[in-house]
Amino acid sequence: MNKTESLFRRFENNQATWDDYFEFIKLPDEKLERFFELSYKIKLNNRGEVLKIYVPDDRFPAISITGDRCELSCEHCNEKYLKGMKPLTTNSDLYHYLITHAKNGGVGALISGGCLSDGSVPLYKYLDTIKKIKKETNLIINTHTGLLNEVTAKKLSAANVDIVSFDINVDQEIIQNIYHLDKSINDYQKSIRLLQKYNLNIVPHICIGLHYGELSKELECIKLIKESGLDPALIVFIALIPPKSSQMEFKTPSIIDISKIIALARFIFPNKEISLGCMRPRGKIRQSLEKMAIKAGINRLEMPSRHTLQWVNKNYPQIKLKFFSSCCAVEKKDEIKTIMKDAKIKKYLRM
Ligand code: SF4
Repeated sequence: MNKTESLFRRFENNQATWDDYFEFIKLPDEKLERFFELSYKIKLNNRGEVLKIYVPDDRFPAISITGDRCELSCEHCNEKYLKGMKPLTTNSDLYHYLITHAKNGGVGALISGGCLSDGSVPLYKYLDTIKKIKKETNLIINTHTGLLNEVTAKKLSAANVDIVSFDINVDQEIIQNIYHLDKSINDYQKSIRLLQKYNLNIVPHICIGLHYGELSKELECIKLIKESGLDPALIVFIALIPPKSSQMEFKTPSIIDISKIIALARFIFPNKEISLGCMRPRGKIRQSLEKMAIKAGINRLEMPSRHTLQWVNKNYPQIKLKFFSSCCAVEKKDEIKTIMKDAKIKKYLRM
């Protein structure tokens, strides 16, 4: 039996080790097909024939509590993503916006923002307002916290936020040279421990290809999730969009690299929900990436192209598509609140 065959057998028999997972990353493209068939089969056995589609439209807006300000100006973002969010920088604006949003049929919001120089999103001073919103409405609140300290973790828990979307990172080079952050891997681990200590619902996000478009420590991020005992209900993968503004050279991560990491997550967490989230290259590779991610074993997908959905209907007619007006990190128990209205689904499918 050759090396790839015996590697495949170990994957198939659920006997793969971490060394095997690292070996899988090195496999050439022509040896991958059976592995993707296996990851898809594992998805099917554990998550069934459902693909959940997320469209965070006006019912689930993204809010920046710092407007377009960020003290880090990360290479891959440089405030670009903040500019696409609704700026609400005072407690009063945040409160009135969210109350009106709830009255108008909103289902939730992503509360995000730029970072301070210590890598934290300055959420702390808004948490009394968020607590009030959670008491007075049924809105689902997803937060981006960045690195955080104990008082913020405690207050996030007291505010009853529904989701903490947390970027997992174990690459010191990314922390320093891409995030411009004078922190260490240990600081990320400390934040995770604090989120665990206060029983927050952490939805780990892993950005594939953040290391200049190449794979670097994505598998180590998955390992950290496994070994830290996080046991999240869901893991979200996003992928680098090469920044135009950076002086550094970034390339678009390859579809195969992204799919390998998704497949590995499916092998390592057979039963978990796995999403391909909002930040990812679109343009020319959009449709091929979405199709490969489905084959690799995702069961959640944020804003796919209409073409991809037609391809699913044609090639996987047994797959049932379910549509939600929310971020892709919403827990299963809250899905009922976020089901997309039929008219909106029809409109989305016409786009
Ligand atoms: S990846 Fe999903 S959960 Fe994270 S911000 Fe985008 S839509 Fe929301």
